[in-house]
Amino acid sequence: MRDVTELSRAFGVNAEWGEGGNFPRFFEHIRGKRVLVLADLNTRPLGEELIRSVASHGCAIDELVYPEFEPVADERTVKMAVRRGEGSDYLLAVGAGTLNDVAKFAGSVLKKPSGVFATAPSMDGFTSGVTPLIEGGAKVTRPAQVASDVLMDAAVLAAAPSLMRGAGVGDVLAKYCALADWRISVSLTGESYNAEAADLMQEAVTRCEAAVPALAAGRREGVGPLMDALLVSGYAMVMAGNSRPASGAEHHMSHFLEMDFLRRDLPIPLHGVKVGLGTLVSLYLYRRACTLPRLEGYECVRREAEGLPAVSHAEEILRSLSCPVRFSEIGVSKETMREMLQKARLIRDRFTILTLYCSVGAMEEVMDEIVERFY
Ligand SMILES: [Zn+2]
Repeated sequence: MRDVTELSRAFGVNAEWGEGGNFPRFFEHIRGKRVLVLADLNTRPLGEELIRSVASHGCAIDELVYPEFEPVADERTVKMAVRRGEGSDYLLAVGAGTLNDVAKFAGSVLKKPSGVFATAPSMDGFTSGVTPLIEGGAKVTRPAQVASDVLMDAAVLAAAPSLMRGAGVGDVLAKYCALADWRISVSLTGESYNAEAADLMQEAVTRCEAAVPALAAGRREGVGPLMDALLVSGYAMVMAGNSRPASGAEHHMSHFLEMDFLRRDLPIPLHGVKVGLGTLVSLYLYRRACTLPRLEGYECVRREAEGLPAVSHAEEILRSLSCPVRFSEIGVSKETMREMLQKARLIRDRFTILTLYCSVGAMEEVMDEIVERFY
């Protein structure tokens, strides 16, 4: 596989591994600049060494530490970052999901570069050109800049809570189904395909999967292949010109659940955790398609099913990283599961295994068994 640092450079991203807050290439970029650090109560302590090093490179530092442990990327959070960022030249997120999203989006609004010191390998938004935000209580996706610098310290990433490492793996395992969904759409709807992007993504997924035992044990060597896969995901999307290489029905199921949590005003489980559950359902749907008379003759689906991991294998991987493998574990009811199976495909106009099941009337046939199997 291509070296991910090299690949990153081709996409204008400095993906830099360092230790103890030492990131020489990054320091070259920001020397003498005014840097706004965005953090929360969880992540601020992890950025201590880095922030000190940044200050020692002639930078003036301003800090916005959100006074909570898990801020959400909504209007209030974004507004605070934009207001504080006006007087800065560079926005540095110390965090992962939300803080990275806020820095990317606020940086785009202010037309100032941003970067992230990744405190957990929990999602693939580091190098994507979009940012999920919550506006008016609803989830939206806005265009945003790609981070200029992604700073990674293996000791910090390996020490992230197991569930966050598991969420990252969930977001990577999802690519199996996302790529399968893409290919069946190519066969059934004539959608265009980008083999280079798909192969790059698949290779990164395979390498990440091999690193699962190390990740589960919290060993440093596990985080390299996981971060590589999370970064490659962003590049594969840029190459494809859309999110096909990284997102299929499993992401639609996750988005559906997210909106449901928002509606009920409940804390939203990690993106990768919901995506991991969606992945289990997608894998099941592919396997099951081979034995459903109604889906006989869909050769492309059978072909994909043969190349996908078994549901039990994916479950073992997620379980080994403390990730839920049943919807009840994250507080999703059987009723919501049923609704998700029928409606998640409507989230966006994209052909997936869910679209196929629903369009041929096969979903009703398998609904009960899926709910029983995964509730
Ligand atoms: Zn994702």
